[in-house]
Amino acid sequence: MEDISKLRQYASILMQERKKLEGKILRAKPYIEGSLIKRFTRCGKPGCRCMEGKPHGPFWYLSRRIEGKTRYTYIPKDKAKEVKALTDSNKEIRKARAKIRKITERLDSVFDQIIESRLIEFTKGGGTDD
Ligand SMILES: [Zn+2]
Repeated sequence: MEDISKLRQYASILMQERKKLEGKILRAKPYIEGSLIKRFTRCGKPGCRCMEGKPHGPFWYLSRRIEGKTRYTYIPKDKAKEVKALTDSNKEIRKARAKIRKITERLDSVFDQIIESRLIEFTKGGGTDD
């Protein structure tokens, strides 16, 4: 059995961590699903710079899984930054939620240990009821 004060300390650290993450969920920014990716292309025209190792681009796309397939949506260059912020927001939200789940699991086990350590044996005529 672990020392109860250590368990309490550990539990309160986890609770603080979870509270911070919960705050992130409450203040979640708008988001979109998917990832922003960039691509370079070769047009194939003879004599073009792309045929000499200088491809065209970058061109920006939003990559998303839709019904099991990866779909790419072209994103104009001037929108790329905005789309990146929206996909980053999604990743942040997902990360926070995953961490909350992990911490909750850990807390559950720490709570179990705290409660178990508080259990005393009841014996008739023993020290607990006189
Ligand atoms: Zn070219």
